[in-house]
Amino acid sequence: MVKTIGVIGAGTMGNGIAQVAAEAGYQVIMRDIEEELVQRGISSIQKNLNRAIEKGKLVQEKAQEIMGQIRGTVELQDLAEVDVIIEAIIEKMEPKKELFKELDTICKETTVFASNTSGLSITEIAASTNRSDKVVGMHFFNPVPVMKLIEIIKGQETSEETFGLVKNMVESFGKIGILVNDAPLFAVNRILVPMINEAIFVLAEGTASAVDIDEGMKLGANQPIGPLALADLIGLDTLLLVIETLYTETSDSKYRPCPLLKKLVRAGHLGRKTGQGFYSYE
Ligand code: NAD
Repeated sequence: MVKTIGVIGAGTMGNGIAQVAAEAGYQVIMRDIEEELVQRGISSIQKNLNRAIEKGKLVQEKAQEIMGQIRGTVELQDLAEVDVIIEAIIEKMEPKKELFKELDTICKETTVFASNTSGLSITEIAASTNRSDKVVGMHFFNPVPVMKLIEIIKGQETSEETFGLVKNMVESFGKIGILVNDAPLFAVNRILVPMINEAIFVLAEGTASAVDIDEGMKLGANQPIGPLALADLIGLDTLLLVIETLYTETSDSKYRPCPLLKKLVRAGHLGRKTGQGFYSYE
């Protein structure tokens, strides 16, 4: 039975995952590489819960209980006894493989390893461990506390037992899981990310302004948020890495990242997390 979850990475996704897991009653240990990053993740969760209290959706005592279930750390060793790892670090294959290789020697034999990658190969990540049957993709959506879907990705060697355990965990989070086989960007991002990239081309070509593109897609395609505002929410650096995976894995030029996206990332304009992307944020 899963009781303790280790979340690795306390950024945009990691702190949301830690919050949802704690709300579902699990003990959570959240790890990042620096104490300051751990603390930033923890205060994001606190802010989120405070907002829920203000809206009358949560009582103070419950919020305290949730916060009490989350422990931050910079030590990987602290994750030795967790039942499940959910990894949410940078969207690059090598750091993910290095991390799981190390965790393979630290965690108990039964620990299940899940990656929140947006589209890297689960099969390749699994091959860096000696427990490829216990490695699975668990792809959450942003913002994690709000979005209902989790794609559950089966790698080449993922066992039915691992899949079943993760499916139960997804349900215990109050989320809905869909089964997806390992393929570049899985199912949802394979469709969504090229659309966002296309929206950036439409902007770069001067066809319409950012505001009008987003307004158009909200009112004309019934999307709750425009593609450029969504890009800012995802983080332009992460978005670029994700598009690059699709482009390199398929060698299909239709997936080339828009040069304007590259330019914004090179300028350090990464969206909401830096206060500037396609829009400015306070
Ligand atoms: P982020 O940049 O906001 O956060 C990543 C965090 O991981 C940083 O705090 C960084 O310090 C930390 N980190 C890096 N290496 C680490 C290590 N070895 N151990 C512990 N912490 C480490 O990124 P994010 O947007 O949260 O994305 C994380 C993962 O989630 C990526 O794989 C991304 O593709 C995926 N994802 C992102 C979104 C999104 O909308 N941003 C949605 C779904 C999935």
